[in-house]
Amino acid sequence: SEDSFRQAQKMEAVGQLTAGLAHDFNNLLTAIAGNLERLQARLEQPDLRRRLDVIQIAADRAAHLTRQLLAFARKTALDPKPIDLSDAVLGFVDLLETTAGSGVELRLDLRRRLPACLVDRTHLESALLNAVANARDAMPKGGEITIATSRLHLNGDALSRELPSGDYVVLEVRDEGEGMPPSVVARAAEPFFTTKSQGKGTGLGLAMVHGFLQQSRGRLEIESEVGRGTTIRMILPAHMAASEVETRGELVEPAKLA
Ligand code: ADP
Repeated sequence: SEDSFRQAQKMEAVGQLTAGLAHDFNNLLTAIAGNLERLQARLEQPDLRRRLDVIQIAADRAAHLTRQLLAFARKTALDPKPIDLSDAVLGFVDLLETTAGSGVELRLDLRRRLPACLVDRTHLESALLNAVANARDAMPKGGEITIATSRLHLNGDALSRELPSGDYVVLEVRDEGEGMPPSVVARAAEPFFTTKSQGKGTGLGLAMVHGFLQQSRGRLEIESEVGRGTTIRMILPAHMAASEVETRGELVEPAKLA
């Protein structure tokens, strides 16, 4: 449609802009980190050293994020593999906790033995990071962020008008923050749409999540209520091993294939 064409065009422009910026940032951060290291080696006062350590940690994290951004902007880095969503969350939980910050509690509600999803791990991690950063921003007075995984089977109900019937895996990021009115929900995934003050928001986070889900043949759902909180729901198709695939609900028996 016209809308998704415009969205794709905007994302293309964003990709080029991001690649350029991330590249420059990476160079700057390398210079910062290099000088820090020299300073640290020469400082006697433990108090000052501790401050430099904090700067170092922040610089390392910024460098890590820029590399991720660079990988995202260069679509060549796309490398879908079968991934267990619960494992992916667990493997990434340290950075998510750092992002959530000290005033916010991160709670995990992860199902075991989910079907795998065919996704690019870096994109999945970026999507999670963005959702968690938004949840944190929505709770300036603190609260709880829940990351939950589950499975979902669709067969001809309302949702499957946009998604084919079949098995799906769901990744939710829920918060107890300020929420959004319907007019904001409707535009939240648009590139450059932000309600955050200048310098704080780019309006690219949910656009990135949306792009990730489109590329993975999934769907993004946003449920929100002002004053109660928000749920970001990422629905991803289950990637069945050949031995698990059923045809029209009927298991194909090897004998019939011969
Ligand atoms: P940014 O975070 O840079 O503003 P996003 O695309 O991630 O860009 O989000 C767009 C807008 O959607 C935000 O500015 C905010 O108004 C709204 N939003 C996103 N996530 C949440 C959330 N968890 N709670 C409340 N509002 C949200």
